[in-house]
Amino acid sequence: LFITLEGGDGVGKSTQAALLESWLVAAGRTVVRTREPGGTEIGTEIREIVLHSRGHISPRAEALLYAADRAQHIAMKVRPALERGEVVVQDRYLDSSVAYQGAGRVLDGGEIRSLSLWAADGLLPDLTVLLDLDEDAARARLDGANKRFDRLEAEKSDFHRRVRGAFLGLANAEPARFLVVDAAGAPDEIAASIRARVEFLLAH
Ligand code: C5P
Repeated sequence: LFITLEGGDGVGKSTQAALLESWLVAAGRTVVRTREPGGTEIGTEIREIVLHSRGHISPRAEALLYAADRAQHIAMKVRPALERGEVVVQDRYLDSSVAYQGAGRVLDGGEIRSLSLWAADGLLPDLTVLLDLDEDAARARLDGANKRFDRLEAEKSDFHRRVRGAFLGLANAEPARFLVVDAAGAPDEIAASIRARVEFLLAH
C-alpha cells in the first residue's frame, strides 16, 4: 500500500505521517516512512541543491532536479518496500511537483505530471491525503508566528494561492485516489479520518 501526504508548507504533513505510521505499526504492519525531496542519500544531496538554489535556479532545472530525486527514491526505496509487501507512508510526491513546479513556477502541469510519471516509471499512490488549509487559517498561522505581511509576504501569498488551487484541482480530477482533509482541524481528528480511509483500503 502506497500512501502519500500532500499540501502546502506547515499544514502538518509530517505530524500526520508519524501518527499514521505509529497506528499502522501497532496494527502489525511494516512501514517505511519517507519523504521527497530527500528520501535517499543522492536525494539528500539533491534536496540541498534545490533548497539552496532558490531564486537563482531556472524553473525547468528545478523541475528536473525534483524529477531526479523522485526517480532515485522510487527505484531504490519505495518500489522495493512495496514489493516486500510493506506500507509506504510518504511526505510529498508527484502532486507536489504539479502544484509547486507547475502552478507555482508556472510550468505546464501536464508536462510536469508526465515528467514525474516517467521518473517514477508510472507509479501512482493508492491513496493521497491532501491536507488543505484555507488562506485565512494560513494567514492566522503566519500572524501567530509574528511575521510581517509585507510585499514579499504578499508575493508568497499569491504563490501559495496558486499552489493550493492546483492541489485542490488535482484532488477534484482524481477523487478515488484523494482524501481531502481540512488541516485547520485538531491533529487527532485529522488522524482519525485518515485512519478510517486507510482501514478501508487495507480491508479491500
Ligand atoms: O515538505 P518539505 O518542507 O520537505 O519541502 C521543502 C520545500 O520544498 C518546501 O518549501 C516546499 O515548498 C518545496 N517543494 C517544492 N516542490 C516540490 C516539493 C517541495 O517547491 N516538489
